[in-house]
Amino acid sequence: MPSGRIIKALSGFYYVESEGEIFQCKGRGVFRKKKITPLVGDVVTFDISGKNEGYILEIHPRDNELIRPPIANINQAIIVCSAMKPVFSTVLLDRFLVLVESKGIKPVIFITKMDLVADEAKNSLISYQKDYERVGYKVEQFSVKDSSVLASLEQYFTNNITVIAGQSGVGKTSLLNAINPSLLLKTDEISDSLGRGKHTTRHVELISLCGGLVADTPGFSSLDFQDIEPEELAACFPEIRDRMENCKFRGCMHYKEPKCAIKQAVESGEIASYRYQHYLRFLEEIQSRKPRY
Ligand code: GDP
Ligand code: ZN
Repeated sequence: MPSGRIIKALSGFYYVESEGEIFQCKGRGVFRKKKITPLVGDVVTFDISGKNEGYILEIHPRDNELIRPPIANINQAIIVCSAMKPVFSTVLLDRFLVLVESKGIKPVIFITKMDLVADEAKNSLISYQKDYERVGYKVEQFSVKDSSVLASLEQYFTNNITVIAGQSGVGKTSLLNAINPSLLLKTDEISDSLGRGKHTTRHVELISLCGGLVADTPGFSSLDFQDIEPEELAACFPEIRDRMENCKFRGCMHYKEPKCAIKQAVESGEIASYRYQHYLRFLEEIQSRKPRY
């Protein structure tokens, strides 16, 4: 039985890509009984019923699934921030990082619109880049006008299933278009789905880019921590995750507890204090369940 990946769902059909061919597939009733609906990104086994037509027989186990956009098996999130317009914000970046980490997806940080930054302001961005690299993240700084740097970004897409995340207006669409002009996405096509109103349903598609797949709709548009429990937050900060075994108290929340390895690492400068402040701010937000931006 052939298998492939659903790259588009539209009007009751699932478009399955298998060995370079697209099959227009229907789902069999079995899914309804199991209360599982095929999602874009799913790997499926299917039966061929005609020329490029078939029936989905089985959905392979998922690594993860996002609700907005509804896509399964994303393995990378590129968080796009702009250096200017809107101005770079570590608290907003950390908010995206936590959401991505909580889904078990690998984040990468892209800082774009560097052409708008005056030389004397570049140092502070470079020092942020070093902070995030020390945490273990890959960070790239560029502008879509710089074609030589853009070529070096292509590798991030190869062999990955990527969702692009980031505030509206940071340059997500411009980035994809600059990497592959033949995509020609309209600027508002990938624009923040929040702005569309909750009841608008639209189709989601994985598009081929540089030997990988990328979602045509940005992810993590809802920035609240609804699905994250207070005890889970620390693990969404790699530099806390790596050290929390050294805390004196089991179940340490790294807040007011004595002999907390995290607070010690902040004091010694091993953990950037603004990252720890954001941890505390998000913790408070989760505990009170009232989103604050
Ligand atoms: P999105 O909402 O994140 O998809 O953002 P867009 O791609 O629509 O870009 C928002 C605005 O920023 C547009 O006017 C783009 O032309 C502009 N823009 C995007 N990337 C860059 C860049 O690298 N440099 C400069 N100067 N402007 C950019
Ligand atoms: Zn602690």
